[in-house]
Amino acid sequence: MKEELKKENKESADQKQYVLNPNNWSVTPISSANPKVVLLTFDDSPDKYALDIAKQLKILDVNAIFFVNGHFIDNDKQKKILQQIHEMGFFIGNHTYNHVKLTDLSEEEQRNEIVKVNDAVEKITGTRPQFFRAPYGANTDFSKQLVKEEGMLLMNWSFGYDWQKEYQEKDKLTEIMLDTPYLMNGANLLMHDRKWTSEAITDIVKGYQKKGYDIIDPSQLDISPSK
Ligand SMILES: [Zn+2]
Repeated sequence: MKEELKKENKESADQKQYVLNPNNWSVTPISSANPKVVLLTFDDSPDKYALDIAKQLKILDVNAIFFVNGHFIDNDKQKKILQQIHEMGFFIGNHTYNHVKLTDLSEEEQRNEIVKVNDAVEKITGTRPQFFRAPYGANTDFSKQLVKEEGMLLMNWSFGYDWQKEYQEKDKLTEIMLDTPYLMNGANLLMHDRKWTSEAITDIVKGYQKKGYDIIDPSQLDISPSK
């Protein structure tokens, strides 16, 4: 299966072992990569808890994408936090500047929301984001095209719970993240920069590992746009 893809990607085959499935936003192995993986993502970063989450992930030796909003990296203290997260080896994704619904904006406003974040992140970390996730998962044809032009991979997510009232507590969140019926190979996990998420994240990661899932390194994801 996927032999043509394997050949096409031969040059980057050492690194790129997964593609994103645009139908359900899960990650699918190319050729022989382990299918039993999950992808960790943290939106609305870096507000109050992203750095703490990053430190815990570092101890667990797993990687993740932190999707950042531009308004969280305006002041020097927050710029420093972003830089720290980047220097720890985590991926910085673009979650727009002001976290507004792109479908409510003009094309020029959408461009601002997206490109300004890439410019700001590059200025702070030296690297432009490779991943994009729209607030509320709401994209337009224009934003999709722009994201492609900016060389980013657009993604929504498979499941997430930490913004729902009943799961805003460490044990309840851990339990639902591990026992949800939506858990599947390649699941793209949506979490946020939130207190209860930072309290639960070590147990969540260890729980997946106990179930036999590896945490995917985002560097293994092929970000080239689908042909
Ligand atoms: Zn968000």
